[in-house]
Amino acid sequence: MTVRRQPPPQHRPIRTAELLAVGSELTAGETRDTNGGELARALSLQGVSVRRVIALPDDLVLVTASFAEALSTVDVVVATGGLGPTPDDLTREALSAAIGEVPEVDPDQQAWLRDLFARRGMALPELNLKQAWLIPSATAIPNPNGTAPGWWVDRPDGRVAILLPGPPREMRPMWRDWVMPRLRDRGLGDGRLVRMLRTYGIGESRVAELLGEPMLRAANPVVATYARADWLDVRISAVDERDAGGRVVRPALQVLETAAGAVRETLAGHVLAEGETSWADLVAAAAARAGVRFAVVEAGTRGALGALLCDVPALERAIAHGPGAARDVAAWPVESDAVEVAREARVEVGISLVAHSDLTQTLLRVAVAAPADGWSRVLDLCLFQHGDHGRFRAGVAAAAFLVEVLGKER
Ligand code: AMP
Ligand code: MG
Repeated sequence: MTVRRQPPPQHRPIRTAELLAVGSELTAGETRDTNGGELARALSLQGVSVRRVIALPDDLVLVTASFAEALSTVDVVVATGGLGPTPDDLTREALSAAIGEVPEVDPDQQAWLRDLFARRGMALPELNLKQAWLIPSATAIPNPNGTAPGWWVDRPDGRVAILLPGPPREMRPMWRDWVMPRLRDRGLGDGRLVRMLRTYGIGESRVAELLGEPMLRAANPVVATYARADWLDVRISAVDERDAGGRVVRPALQVLETAAGAVRETLAGHVLAEGETSWADLVAAAAARAGVRFAVVEAGTRGALGALLCDVPALERAIAHGPGAARDVAAWPVESDAVEVAREARVEVGISLVAHSDLTQTLLRVAVAAPADGWSRVLDLCLFQHGDHGRFRAGVAAAAFLVEVLGKER
């Protein structure tokens, strides 16, 4: 029987973190570390400063050293991967070595595992026994989707080490339902509030120029731009502003709101959404406001617009033609195509998009038409992006045009 030695840990709020992704498949480039990014994002949104996100091979010495370093630097270290039953999975061994504890089979965990296998008519394989291991300072984190429980390890100085399995479908629910609530109980982050403003139709350098150096270099609020495939995001985060005596002079929310207002005003008209809004969300909202259903026909885009909007309830029909059809973009009768697709699908609004991507750029022509209302609008654009990215951006440009036109015409 394992003797639990768990004095109440010293109170230590969780302000800093380090994330380890363990597995030789990651460092060999066979699998991408998606866990690190997901956990980093979840922690950052809570105001935790993530110092490092690293991938490590299944190497006992390296992983042990990384745990030892993290546990002398940050408040929480979260490792994913290396909890499998085979000898190459050695994250438990590494953490145990780093803190000088010895794993033993835990009777409760063993009973749970034995039962799991028994229900499939199998005996518990000897190899899997290490998935029932615990060390004295570890609490098992139940895994409802696999055979590897996680570990929550309290250090005497209040630091925490967390081990989670590598497969994202096992890791995510354990993180969300078990780990996060407990981290919150410890006091998570620095009370930082975060807001994302999604902008479109303005380049990153122009945004930086307009916002100006003082704003982009300030410590509170922190304002940063992120160029994504379909948006240019301006991320604003703020903490309470305090005077020398530690009294709050301006609460975080006020600092955030003031900055967000200033950014919106400076980038007038280009801030289209907040947070995690997608183009499908924006189009869905615009169509609902206008009270229309719509149909799409596109050529030379590999169906980019239809794919972008496939979850929009108001999208009645999406037709994609091959690239051969899209050579002469400028001469393409997009208006009559838009009218025709709306009529055929018996909806209020039709969109026709044609794009041609060469080695350096993408030309596109898009029409939005409402035959029953008797209006149509056409947009011609030349995008810097080409190839698959250019085609995707053509779809985004058409979606943006649709949102703009629906806002104005209906
Ligand atoms: P493991 O827990 O090390 O046995 O990992 C099992 C499987 O989970 C691996 O083969 C990968 O497919 C997946 N996996 C492990 N680590 C990661 C990670 N950091 N990001 C995404 N997938 C991972
Ligand atoms: Mg592994």
